[in-house]
Amino acid sequence: MQFIDTHIHLDGEEFDVDRQQVIDRAREAGAVAMFLPAIDLPSSYRILQLCQQHLGFLYPMVGLHPEEVKSDYRDVLAAFKPFFSSFTNDPLQLPSLIIGIGEVGLDFYWSREYEKEQLEAFETQVQWSVETRLPLMIHCRKAQNEMVRLLRRYERELPGGVFHCFTGNAHEAEELLQFENFCIGIGGVSTFKKSHLPEVLPNVVPLNRLVLETDAPYMAPVPMRGQRNESAYITYIIEKLAESYGVAPDEIGHQTTENVAQLFGITIKEH
Ligand SMILES: [Zn+2]
Repeated sequence: MQFIDTHIHLDGEEFDVDRQQVIDRAREAGAVAMFLPAIDLPSSYRILQLCQQHLGFLYPMVGLHPEEVKSDYRDVLAAFKPFFSSFTNDPLQLPSLIIGIGEVGLDFYWSREYEKEQLEAFETQVQWSVETRLPLMIHCRKAQNEMVRLLRRYERELPGGVFHCFTGNAHEAEELLQFENFCIGIGGVSTFKKSHLPEVLPNVVPLNRLVLETDAPYMAPVPMRGQRNESAYITYIIEKLAESYGVAPDEIGHQTTENVAQLFGITIKEH
């Protein structure tokens, strides 16, 4: 069994006591890589530092999460510039580690107070993706129409990305799959009793458009639901998907790993 967790907030304080063990358990369970999305500037720096200590296994993304977008978002985004403007000549070689822009997107679940700001911040970061050719890790909640409308304007220039934590219906999945080089990120929600994903996914999402994620420490799959999540628990998601697609668990692991490697342009060391 091999897999890639494309979305874990491993820099979070929830992992302060046992971060190394979480990494070790992931490896033992079959992880060949873990991707760390940022939510703001401090977490972007934390993640870069953490990934430097685990080269070739932990991979960083940088970006401003929609829920972190406030009225000062322009200044905040400007402070990300060093990551990209010196993409090739940074003496620390930090930028060369970055594999994606994330997590970015729109979230109108709790409020639309910063709707305009969120839309502008998302668009700026979509433009970063176009300029740097780094794929997007997209967070979208209660905002698919707005997100799709914005992405369509850049459709032909985008290098691709992941629609992370997909929980929608067949129509929404089909709409997202119209974006070439984009994959759908599936996590713990697919194992929840009331989830319709086990029925929806095999009908509309081909296995070559699927990637795995935990969104840890959140979204732990059944039977760990409610506990702190970690990458090793992806095996529960793999089992669920194998059952619903009617294939062997190994095939889910292998195919999703290949999808990720292709989308993010990284070489995975088989072990
Ligand atoms: Zn996340």
